[in-house]
Amino acid sequence: MKKLLFTCSLLFTTALLTSCATSESDNAQACNAGNVKLTTEFATARMDSCKRTADNEYLITLKPENTPINSSPWYAFKVEADQPTTIKVTMLVKGDEHRYPPKISQDGKTWKLQPYKLKGERLVMNIAASNDPVFIAGQEIINNQYYIDWANKLMNTNAGNAMLSYDLLGNSTQGRPIYKIESKGQGNEWLVILGRQHPPEITGALALFPFVETLLSNSELAATFRDKYNILVIPNINPDGVQAGNWRHNANGVDLNRDWNDFKQIETKQINGYLEQLVANGQKIKFAVDFHSTKSNVFYTMPIDYGVEDAYFVRHWLGDLDQKMPDVEVVLKPGNNPGLGVSKQYFSDKFGVHAITYEMGDNTDRQEIKDIAFNASNLLMANMLSDVDHNKE
Ligand SMILES: [Zn+2]
Repeated sequence: MKKLLFTCSLLFTTALLTSCATSESDNAQACNAGNVKLTTEFATARMDSCKRTADNEYLITLKPENTPINSSPWYAFKVEADQPTTIKVTMLVKGDEHRYPPKISQDGKTWKLQPYKLKGERLVMNIAASNDPVFIAGQEIINNQYYIDWANKLMNTNAGNAMLSYDLLGNSTQGRPIYKIESKGQGNEWLVILGRQHPPEITGALALFPFVETLLSNSELAATFRDKYNILVIPNINPDGVQAGNWRHNANGVDLNRDWNDFKQIETKQINGYLEQLVANGQKIKFAVDFHSTKSNVFYTMPIDYGVEDAYFVRHWLGDLDQKMPDVEVVLKPGNNPGLGVSKQYFSDKFGVHAITYEMGDNTDRQEIKDIAFNASNLLMANMLSDVDHNKE
């Protein structure tokens, strides 16, 4: 297995948009007075409390939106100072521990690791503050506007493609738009791509973008694929959680990826309704991929003997990925939790097909995330188009 060390020299870029610095943060508890300011007036910002403890020393406490909750303390704040100075920031997580090593960015697009030390439960860092603000965040900031700009760019790149559409699927609990991108060809079978049920799971988002770009590319494989299969992409399912910098939940404090049985939340309910409507109109859901992040790269699958069609399909596909990328460990974890309300299980139970939860490690090298996504996307298309009998090993 290739070592995925996260070194401080690592510099990764995302095409992050300048709209980082918009307003609408409703959780601002900022140290926003004096020569040095720590502020949260931008989308995705989160700093649950901030205290100046001495000259140029600050204590930030992070708290979840509600409990119980999966441990993924998110933070994002802006630092600026009237005069160049170094400040010491200590971060504590109430009732939990840190998950994301801090990143720093001046423009919100290019991020690098911010040096830090862990002293027990305290994460301590020295930050060079000046009148050029810097962003500090748990991962690269990918806000709601980023998705809109990404989709618009995709539509512009594919302006001649009449099969492609981008429009509203529905609205979130707080009324934010939930968008879908669709490619509709001649056939009636659909590949469904989901993303960002869990707001801080940025590496999942960093995988979804190149994965979808590859599906919509002008390669011969992708063009052939889109002639045969339709694609539905819902890249940002939890825009309220993204806006608020939530650790995991939607605006009602509910984990959306535990709601695919009950559909008590408007976000999942609308997607289920849309898929039911497709099926009622003679369409067939063929496969689904839901993008997330966890400690290390892992593909959660349904068991081969679960009884869905093309029993070996996922094994064939990810087996091909394993062969294609010998330096990357491709880990498959089959599982079956009928009561849990996870999207993967929903697709299998409701439509009788395979689905996976595509998890990238929090600290996986950003270029490697892109490489895996590119290969996984191409191999998925090749497998869905191949004549191989996926009911056999
Ligand atoms: Zn997740």
